[in-house]
Amino acid sequence: MEQTTKEAVQQAWSKRPMIIAGPCSAETEEQVLQTAQRLAATGKVDMLRAGIWKPRTKPGGFEGIGAKGLPWLQQAKKLTGLPVAVEVATAKQVENALHFDVDVLWIGARTTVNPFSVQELADALRGVDVPVLIKNPVNPDIELWGGAVERVARAGIKQIGLIHRGFSSYGNTEYRNAPMWTLAIEMKRRNPELMMINDPSHICGRRDILQDVAQRAIDLDYDGFIIESHIDPDNAWSDAKQQVTPERLKEMLDTLVWRKEDVNSEEYHAALEKLRQQINHLDDELMQILSQRMKIAENIGQYKKSNNITILQTNRWNEIIERAVQKGEKIGLSKEFITKYFDAVHMESINHQKKVLDA
Ligand code: PEP
Ligand code: MN
Repeated sequence: MEQTTKEAVQQAWSKRPMIIAGPCSAETEEQVLQTAQRLAATGKVDMLRAGIWKPRTKPGGFEGIGAKGLPWLQQAKKLTGLPVAVEVATAKQVENALHFDVDVLWIGARTTVNPFSVQELADALRGVDVPVLIKNPVNPDIELWGGAVERVARAGIKQIGLIHRGFSSYGNTEYRNAPMWTLAIEMKRRNPELMMINDPSHICGRRDILQDVAQRAIDLDYDGFIIESHIDPDNAWSDAKQQVTPERLKEMLDTLVWRKEDVNSEEYHAALEKLRQQINHLDDELMQILSQRMKIAENIGQYKKSNNITILQTNRWNEIIERAVQKGEKIGLSKEFITKYFDAVHMESINHQKKVLDA
């Protein structure tokens, strides 16, 4: 018996890794159908994606083909059997997408930031049985991301997934959207029941580092990917630099090393348990030492208070950081880590001193 699309969606949703691929934007009927067929031919893809309405940072770019492209997706689904996913940002777009049998909806990063828009979508989704993927907001705020999940869940949507597509950050970095992995990991820790897939395309913004980011996501046990793929990437109407052909995508997926989260061997578990114990011991010691360090900071606070001196003394702080970075480099701790670590220690230290001064 032929599989219904509903079954295909459920199968894709529960498959690990789940791979969603397709062009950033639907451009023409031919482009959509050819991409879909070439993606299906890889045998690696579980669902098609295509942007129909494109939220652009600046006006004047290609803002999406609009509802006119929805029948192309229906046709692509008919040809390949692959369910289709589309980004929605307004109630009207939800209505249109559902009318044309779009199987999975996703909320884009520029929408997740806005609780009014998310609520509008949630209201439009009330009583509808459709899986929804929620991208992280453009800004690094997982409360906002969690808020969007809550709004959609409260509307009665049972199947919700997360897409980690990286965060805007000021200045030039190697990424289009910095991954800030720790935020995604924290989001996953808070929502263990939700699947989380990675969007290396929008994190990287360029083809040459896609593979590295995708591998990193696998190593962090993500549930799958949403990746942009176009039959003629260089001439794509949007996000040309980050798209890959379906064949290149297959190559990429074949080259990735799919590590297991766990194995059953007792020997492995015993060895791992021992190492974890060691880490716990060291972490306990580190905390003890940090607590001692804060006590000394409090003593310094006392002296500063008696002598009426400010808490923050920039020169002393620069001296600490410089010394630590130099020492750290010799023992294999990166400058980035040392700086972040000492910033956190410094803040905590200032808070302890402040308590003394305010007492
Ligand atoms: C997209 O997936 O094409 C898109 C617009 O992504 P984001 O919302 O992550 O910017
Ligand atoms: Mn895109």
